[in-house]
Amino acid sequence: MIPVAALLTLVILAPEATPPAGALAPVEASRILDEALRGESIRILAELTDGVGPRLAGSPGADAAVRWAVDWFRARGITVRVDPVMVTHWVRGEERAEVVASKGRRSQPLAVTALGMSAPTPPGGMTAEVVEVRSLEELAALGAKVKGRIVLFQHDMKDASGYGKFAGLRLRGPAAAARQGAAAALVRSLSSATLRTPHTGATLIPEGVKAIPAAALSVEDAELLHRLLARGPVTVRLVLGGRLADPPLAPSANVVAEIRGSEKPEEVVVIGAHLDSWDLGTGAIDDGAGVAMVLDTMRIAASMPRPPRRTLRAVLFMNEENGAEGAVAYHETSLAAGTRHVAAIEADAGAGRPTGVEVTSGEGGLEAVRAMAAPLAALGASDVKAGGGGVDISPLAYAGVPLLSLAQDNSHYFDWHHSAADTFDKVDPRALAEAAAAFAWMAWALADSPVPLPPAPIPSTPPWWKRAAP
Ligand SMILES: [Zn+2]
Repeated sequence: MIPVAALLTLVILAPEATPPAGALAPVEASRILDEALRGESIRILAELTDGVGPRLAGSPGADAAVRWAVDWFRARGITVRVDPVMVTHWVRGEERAEVVASKGRRSQPLAVTALGMSAPTPPGGMTAEVVEVRSLEELAALGAKVKGRIVLFQHDMKDASGYGKFAGLRLRGPAAAARQGAAAALVRSLSSATLRTPHTGATLIPEGVKAIPAAALSVEDAELLHRLLARGPVTVRLVLGGRLADPPLAPSANVVAEIRGSEKPEEVVVIGAHLDSWDLGTGAIDDGAGVAMVLDTMRIAASMPRPPRRTLRAVLFMNEENGAEGAVAYHETSLAAGTRHVAAIEADAGAGRPTGVEVTSGEGGLEAVRAMAAPLAALGASDVKAGGGGVDISPLAYAGVPLLSLAQDNSHYFDWHHSAADTFDKVDPRALAEAAAAFAWMAWALADSPVPLPPAPIPSTPPWWKRAAP
């Protein structure tokens, strides 16, 4: 453990890093950081990943996670409730694929896994010729030529920066292919590394579109199909059993825990992460790490000699991965209750070491967060940039709530993201503890700062949960 207190004193006394007079007590920053760096976060993560396991929304694992989280808060004397929410209930089935033998080519298996919302193939599977595209525009240009075919969405994601660039192929590709009469879709895994593991993820099926079988393909097998297609037609046989359950929605819950503010309890700072995970791994980096950071923050805040000025509210959202119903339900419930959110910070960026803080707020917000984040210089994480947020807190933007997130080292995040390899062993305890420390301090600073952040401008785009997916 680093003795942060010593470093911290220097940082706090540096003139350019001095927070506004009387704002936040340096002694509290040092206490919070030191407490998080003791490393309780990795023990919390082990309970969730190794004890509860995979937590796909609607599954028994997700139910177990809700019970585990409630018990965790209760055992520490922290007020907790469950807010019921109906979630998309999709279940995985049998899944396999192979290149069909042809002249001069033997059959060989392909590593596939169904995407969320995929329809099943007929029980015996389906066989069709593959057509490769690299963009939705390229697909559109093919028009009816993809009818009855398997559309392969090819790309060249190399590192974390490629995720934003190519995620649209997975999110929108299968529905677009369905509209053009395709029989199925294969999406090259959105991954920065792979040991032939397919990476699943959400795909959007707008109303009026009939889902087709859709699967992620390992990077190696996407390369194989690309090479084979360069030599001539390729036929693939696909068996996918994944389907929406009957009924397609299942009861679940957000878990909401609170430490009541001492001076302005009606003003609420939300700290959020998502409790669900994909089913292939145990959701250690996505988003067990975030859950561990949120829980550790609450543990530390509850252990302080006094509560923060404002209410600190932990929200463990349900089904960020395959419908985001928990995010919408929390927003609607709090609107109906007239909740005054003054800030929300989300942890859904893995378990890498923290590098800074991101914020979306009104005029002067960046400077205010810079002052708050000054103690994080001890962790090399005091760099403050515009652009904070996250899927689960994003609906709060429509109420003008300032949104924040930690910036974290994500150089390996997409090696394992949404794959069977997202497991506990990928997490470096020290990096997670540092991320938890940065998160806990920002949460405390937001809840305890005498002046709240300036409200953010309301987004000009319509709420994503109200518009039909394109
Ligand atoms: Zn996530």
